[in-house]
Amino acid sequence: MLLEQELKKYSSHVVLEEIGEEGQEKLKNAKILIIGIGGLGSPSALYLAASGIGTLGLVDFDTVEENDLQRQIIHSIKDLKKSKLESAKESILNLNKEIKLNLHDIRINEDNIELINDYDLVIDCTDNLQVRYSMNDACLKFNKPLIYGGISKFEGQVSVFNYKNGPCFRCFIKEDKRNILNCNETGVLSSIPGVIGTIEATEALKIILDKGKVLSGRLLFYDALNSRFREIKINKQKDCKCNKN
Ligand SMILES: [Zn+2]
Repeated sequence: MLLEQELKKYSSHVVLEEIGEEGQEKLKNAKILIIGIGGLGSPSALYLAASGIGTLGLVDFDTVEENDLQRQIIHSIKDLKKSKLESAKESILNLNKEIKLNLHDIRINEDNIELINDYDLVIDCTDNLQVRYSMNDACLKFNKPLIYGGISKFEGQVSVFNYKNGPCFRCFIKEDKRNILNCNETGVLSSIPGVIGTIEATEALKIILDKGKVLSGRLLFYDALNSRFREIKINKQKDCKCNKN
């Protein structure tokens, strides 16, 4: 049940036919894990906290550096040298005091990835391809949707994997093709992670609400220099792990 004060606070959701009280309650009961609290994780975590998600898990092991502030809007000048988790916690609690936050101060790997099983879905906000394969395999194992975002220069891409038996990340990029670079190496326009991280949060909300057409089997590609979105079909691969489970 939602409290009177919650109905007021989330009235812009409750008034929507697709959400209503019932949908807002679903958001309150939802548990979402965000891996990486940097450029993509910042808008994703802020919007999900603002939307009334009940439990957010945050994974990061890094500290806030001055060059992070160019795009990682959850952190501020006062947070420099602080852990990203502590900095994010402060910003999130400023938006939503009722939220339950689980801070996971770890570098995600095959030995600790099982923590995803405590959540309804996982949002990939990392820039590390190896971690992506580990997340993907754990999401397959525990049957959790994986929301993927990638950014580089003036472009971004976003998709949802392992959703209702749809394709997985390995169907999209086979392990031998190392073609995604770290944005610190390639550079990125500050607002690109804002666009892509916000779409990741939106897909998470749609999945929790079970509304609309989720970005599964499709990659949404954003070309900022030409102000263009394109959609690329992603097929489930016959020889992929996700078909052998
Ligand atoms: Zn697959």
